[in-house]
Amino acid sequence: MRVGVLGGTGNLGKGLALRLAKAGYDVMIGSRDRKKAEERAEEYSGIVGVRIRGDSNRRVSEVCDVVIIAIPWKNAFEVVEELRESLKGKIVVSPIVPMEKTENGFVYVNLPEGSAAEKVASILGSRSVVSAYHNIPARRFSDLNERVEWDVAVCGDDDESKRVVMEITNSMDGLRALDAGPLSNSRIVESLTPLLINIALRNRMKELSIKFV
Ligand code: NAP
Repeated sequence: MRVGVLGGTGNLGKGLALRLAKAGYDVMIGSRDRKKAEERAEEYSGIVGVRIRGDSNRRVSEVCDVVIIAIPWKNAFEVVEELRESLKGKIVVSPIVPMEKTENGFVYVNLPEGSAAEKVASILGSRSVVSAYHNIPARRFSDLNERVEWDVAVCGDDDESKRVVMEITNSMDGLRALDAGPLSNSRIVESLTPLLINIALRNRMKELSIKFV
């Protein structure tokens, strides 16, 4: 199965690309700039010892079965809009967290659609949108020496798409996928991220994730 990471040149995309490639998936990273994607892919390949390819976001959307949108929320929706045709029939994964920094810390930004994942689904007119990875701290995740033991709450309306994303997630070292219900629950999961960041900052802790015990 070929997994694409749009914005795979960035913080979260790096960890996903490295750990998915390590788990045996055929991974491609996308960028607005093909050359940048190729260079970053070469660097990632050197880290993990497995070939990762880089190309434009459009090409990655066209040739991958599962496409993760690892792009900041203020830009992600227009990218999804632009790539709507290429993303038809694909399992699209939203790790997108709409949040803003205020003088009191980070706050979740409410979207009229209910959540970032529902907004992606409404742009695509698709039931195959799955939300995951919102509570994964990118810096720790992209360090393959970091031993992680984190849970990933996965939401989605299409059972088969959700099953595939949970399988992919469970294949990555240290991650456990948990079914968190329909896509309308994504809002709850997305909004945990600013909470985790605020707790880490206020209590001088390193980047936090979640584990259900
Ligand atoms: P990031 O590193 O700031 O950016 C990721 C990539 O997005 C960049 O490398 C860039 O790729 C692309 N990008 C930037 N501006 C863009 C624009 N105007 N139009 C199109 N593409 C643009 O982001 P991130 O921290 O990895 O976060 C990515 C997503 O994951 C976000 O939605 C975030 O909410 C979510 N998330 C992040 C974390 C985290 O710890 N960082 C954790 C959980 C979820 P190119 O320049 O190569 O095109």
